[in-house]
Amino acid sequence: MGPQDQPDYLNAVVRFQTDLAALALLGVLQDIETHHGRVRTGERWGPRTLDLDLLLYGEQIIDTPSLTVPHPGIADRSFVLLPLAELTPDLTIPALGALSDLVSQCQQFDIRRLNSSL
Ligand code: ATP
Ligand code: MG
Ligand code: MG
Repeated sequence: MGPQDQPDYLNAVVRFQTDLAALALLGVLQDIETHHGRVRTGERWGPRTLDLDLLLYGEQIIDTPSLTVPHPGIADRSFVLLPLAELTPDLTIPALGALSDLVSQCQQFDIRRLNSSL
């Protein structure tokens, strides 16, 4: 995504349980990005050390100025859909429908699965 003159990315999806509310969780994710040396330059989709996005929060739909869930890019991003489907193949995404349908409809960009040992 975005400018092509930048190094390749590693993408991953994780699932976890939390007691944090969604907005508080977003704040924690941004703190972790900062601890990993991310500097917000204002450039969209440019190189960064770490980008932690909140893809889903249970079955909730959230639409606030600072947080949109499901993440608005999910349906267009095979680098999100494919690892998400490895975790939860039978998932239904709020407002978007079956994950398996999104996978079959999305454009398959040049992405490769890495061995878990890497
Ligand atoms: P994209 O969101 O298209 O993947 P990005 O991750 O590079 O782009 P960031 O610069 O990391 O964008 O975040 C910009 C803003 O997006 C954040 O300040 C945050 O408030 C907002 N945002 C809205 N919804 C989400 C979400 N679901 N997960 C993470 N950030 C979100
Ligand atoms: Mg992002
Ligand atoms: Mg982000």
